Amino acid sequence: MPTIVLERPGHFILEETPEPTPPGPGEALVRIRRVGICGTDLHAFEGTQPFFDYPRILGHELGVEVVATGRGVTHVHPGDQCAVVPYMDCGRCVPCRMGKTNCCSGLDVLGVHVDGGMRDVLMLPAGKLLRSDILSLEQLALVETLGIGAHAVDRAAVEKGETVLLIGAGPIGLSVLTFALLAGARVILLEISEKRIDFCKRRYDLFEVITDITDVPSRLRRLLNGELPTAVFDATGHAGSMMQAHEYVSNGGRLVYVGITGSQITFDGPGFHRREMTLLSSRNSRAVDLQRVIGHIEAGRIDTSPWITHTAGPERMLADFPTWLDPGSGVVKAVLEMA
Ligand SMILES: [Zn+2]
Ligand SMILES: [Zn+2]
Repeated sequence: MPTIVLERPGHFILEETPEPTPPGPGEALVRIRRVGICGTDLHAFEGTQPFFDYPRILGHELGVEVVATGRGVTHVHPGDQCAVVPYMDCGRCVPCRMGKTNCCSGLDVLGVHVDGGMRDVLMLPAGKLLRSDILSLEQLALVETLGIGAHAVDRAAVEKGETVLLIGAGPIGLSVLTFALLAGARVILLEISEKRIDFCKRRYDLFEVITDITDVPSRLRRLLNGELPTAVFDATGHAGSMMQAHEYVSNGGRLVYVGITGSQITFDGPGFHRREMTLLSSRNSRAVDLQRVIGHIEAGRIDTSPWITHTAGPERMLADFPTWLDPGSGVVKAVLEMA
C-alpha cells in the first residue's frame, strides 16, 4: 500500500509497504482519509523535535473510515467514519489507573513514537476510534487538535465570566481560545504576529488584544481596572514567555503551560508563593476530551471553518510540505487528503 515515510529530516519518500493482515480480536482496520499536519510534524521534518527517531510514518490527527473489524468489536462497523485517539496508553500504570491516559508513563503517540497515519490503511485498537455520523472527514481530522484546548481549559476549570489571558494564537492557542470562549470566559489575547491577530479578531469574540510584550502586567491592569487575569494559558512553547507569564497571573490564579519547551524554566520563588498560584501543565488529551470536542462540533457550537487553510494529496504534500514551515504561508492547519 502507498505510504509516506519521513526517512530523515527534510526528506519524505512515497513507498509501497505490505498490506496488514485481517484485524484480530478488538482491532479495527481503517482507511486513512484525512491527516491534519501540526507543529510536531513540522518539527520532525525540520529535525528539531526532541526524542524523535527516523524513519517514521507521521500522522496523528486522523479522519478515518472503518474497513473491517475483529471479533468483539461492536461500537464501530465497516463504513463508519471516525476520529482517532492517537495516544496508545498501557492501561496499567499509575496515571492510567487514575484515568490520566494522556500522560501514561509508557505513552506511545501515533506518528511520533510509533508509526502513524500517512498510509493507505492502518490497524488500530478499536477502542481508539470515536465515531461520528455528522462530522466531515476534515472535521474528524481536527478533533485531536481541538482536544488539546479542551483538555487544557478543563485542567484550569475555567468558569463562566472569568477573565482569561491567552498567550500565543497558533493552532494550539486557537484550540485553547475555542474552549475558553465555550466556557464563557472573556479572553484577552497576547500575540505579536499581525497575521494571527487579524485572523483572531475576524473570527473570534475577543475581549482585548495586547500586541506589545513590554510591561504586560501594567497593560493588563489598565484593561482590568487594576486587576490581573485569574487564568493564564501559555501556548507559545517559548521558555521566555513561559517564565514571564508568572507575572501576569492574579493572586490565587492559575497558569497553564500548554505549549512545550525543550529548555529549563525558572521563576521567582517569592512571587510564586505570594500569589499562591497554581502552575499546571497540560499534555495531550483524554478520550473524554475528544468525545466532548465531537459533541460540540456536532451541536454546532464550534465553527471549524476557519481552521483548514491548506489541503494537498500525497504527491503535492511532498512538494508543499517545506512551504508549510514558513509562517508567511498563512498556514493554520494543512490537511493531507489520502483517499
Ligand atoms: Zn498535532
Ligand atoms: Zn499507562
